[in-house]
Amino acid sequence: MSLSVLVVEDDREIRAMLQAALRVEGFDVRSAVSVSEAAALVRHALPDVVLLDLGLPDGDGIELVRLVRQHHALPILVITARHQEAEKVRLLDAGADDYLTKPFGVPELLARIRVALRHRGTALAPGTTVHALDDLRIDLEARLVTVRGQPLHLTPTEFNLLARLVRSAGRVVTHRQLLTDVWGAEFTEHTHYLRLYMGQLRAKIEQDPAEPRHLLTETGVGYRLAAA
Ligand code: CA
Repeated sequence: MSLSVLVVEDDREIRAMLQAALRVEGFDVRSAVSVSEAAALVRHALPDVVLLDLGLPDGDGIELVRLVRQHHALPILVITARHQEAEKVRLLDAGADDYLTKPFGVPELLARIRVALRHRGTALAPGTTVHALDDLRIDLEARLVTVRGQPLHLTPTEFNLLARLVRSAGRVVTHRQLLTDVWGAEFTEHTHYLRLYMGQLRAKIEQDPAEPRHLLTETGVGYRLAAA
């Protein structure tokens, strides 16, 4: 059975492009042009993935994210234009899985869908405990991080921050989510902690901390651990 995608996009050309690209990949595609139409479709039959445009005629879709999240773990990917950081952060914090910034290519879209489905698919299984990409290997259970085979010494906070990113490898994690999960709910405004600790982690992990290949900055939103 093919996976179904609900495309929520009011721009006719982008909607047609997404539909065509996803159908070629074997997805069963439905579409909606507004938040209210999307909500009706979701209530009627659940898709496996939702692609949600941020600029819709009747709202920014946060109600749709909340509606879906009340009952379901299916992935929601937000499609944004540049300069919509505040809106996309709100949707991510409300439970959206990831975002794509226009213009994006089909390979990038498919990769993000794959990552989101993988995370949701394993939500009930034991979480990922080993992350390996290029010269970096992180074993959460053994609390062992190696770069080119050499073990690193990390402080407990550095390790916890890295572990949080491993559990969402390939997906963006917002500043608020990182601060809440690593430091606690009362620290959500302390983004300078993140800059400090991310700098320390990059200095230890990245070959060139100024050009990180593992710990990626998502400007105005959060961080993403690169995944294969
Ligand atoms: Ca739009």
